[in-house]
Amino acid sequence: MRKRFAKILATVGPASRSPDIMRLLHDVGVDAFRLNFSHGSHEDHAASVKAIRNIQKETGNPICIVADMQGPKLRCGTFENGSIDLRYGETIEIRQGVEPGSDGLIIMPHEELMKAMVEGTILKFDDGKLQVTVLSNDGTSAKARVDVPGPLSERKGINVVNTVLPMSAMTDKDRVDMAFALTQDVDFIALSFVQTSEDVREARAIIGDKAGIIVKIEKPSAVEDIDSILIAADAAMVARGDLGVELPLEEVPVVQRLIIRKCRALGKPVIVATHMLESMIDAPTPTRAEASDVATAIYQGADAVMLSAETAVGRHPATAVAIMDRIISAAERDPILWEYFRSIKLPYEATAEDAISGAVSGMATTLNAKAVLGYTLTGSTVLRISRERPPCSIVGLTPNARTASRLALSWGVLPVVTPDPADFDDMMGHISDLAKSSMGLESGDTVMVSAGVPFGVPGSTNTLNISKIA
Ligand code: PGA
Ligand code: MN
Repeated sequence: MRKRFAKILATVGPASRSPDIMRLLHDVGVDAFRLNFSHGSHEDHAASVKAIRNIQKETGNPICIVADMQGPKLRCGTFENGSIDLRYGETIEIRQGVEPGSDGLIIMPHEELMKAMVEGTILKFDDGKLQVTVLSNDGTSAKARVDVPGPLSERKGINVVNTVLPMSAMTDKDRVDMAFALTQDVDFIALSFVQTSEDVREARAIIGDKAGIIVKIEKPSAVEDIDSILIAADAAMVARGDLGVELPLEEVPVVQRLIIRKCRALGKPVIVATHMLESMIDAPTPTRAEASDVATAIYQGADAVMLSAETAVGRHPATAVAIMDRIISAAERDPILWEYFRSIKLPYEATAEDAISGAVSGMATTLNAKAVLGYTLTGSTVLRISRERPPCSIVGLTPNARTASRLALSWGVLPVVTPDPADFDDMMGHISDLAKSSMGLESGDTVMVSAGVPFGVPGSTNTLNISKIA
């Protein structure tokens, strides 16, 4: 079992799609894989799910799978030569359609955008790298001035900065992709460009309990409505790529800290995503600033950090994961991290779960306990323990394979699929075996065990036991 607490979520793509590479990525540190439905075919994603579940079988480690929906992301169409050059100050034309564009002409498929553009609308292309301002729009053809020039290749994203588009959170493509993802063995569906808690409820009506919902926070409107969105969701992602285009980029670190803080209070996993080791798409080592960015997310208490292009299309996917693993581990050896975790006051509910989980960190410190093991059916008790950020391993014991692979995304949790014990002696025998065989513990080490007795009833956690390994 790994010793690291925060988790690594890696995006699957052409550079990592082969089962051997995915196995290597898992071996060097990946706990969860993201399938990006903005790219790749359904066959590709189905093959990835199969390969990941095989790795899980071979290693015995539950692995989390996230199916990430594209959402209402606007994209340019194609170009006759694959890309065009936007030159500073030139006037270009933007039209709606499906035929390829050419020098000075962008053709894109989005009727909503064609209708919404007015004089002064600012469009950004390719994660905000290029920018134009609309000069006029007669409804079928818009003229725009290039303010930030550069090469624009086909199918790059378009962000509309100062005009609201009447688009629903789920596109027709999302509905088709989501229906497909739910036939696959995935743990979470990630929703892009969520704007309100209503968007989450709409998705939940389709997803039911087949998968958890990760809300990707990448719109200013989502930041404004953050509390109700997080309550409606199961987990969140600070999607800094689009967020930094939609908001002034100096707001991104502020929003990152806010969302991490709120998710920890709620006990819901939070992922920090995008550009974490961006230079490693090409280079074999990251910049010092990137190393510091990963560490900062860990110090702030993120459950997971994500790799995007680094593992999807980069030249060094396994090295990127290995370096991320080292950066996280170094931060987790720093006593200041644990001081910070202890300093945060969490809100408590009057439940046995919160009473028990709230006691775990202090007890672990007092007793120098090596692990807390939690029996859980839905994962809920273990999520409450994880939110405490205790200074010892958290082992999530569950008979439910889906609960186990979902918990693989959560801070500090080592999930284990195991049948519920028959009684207390059975439980202690099992825990001693597990502690010695997989957790590297020895006879005499102290562990804590939370459980609902009698076993097998969800929501019945009522016991915290202190034991020495036999
Ligand atoms: P994406 O989401 O990679 O699907 O765009 C993450 C982000 O926007 O940061
Ligand atoms: Mn995004």
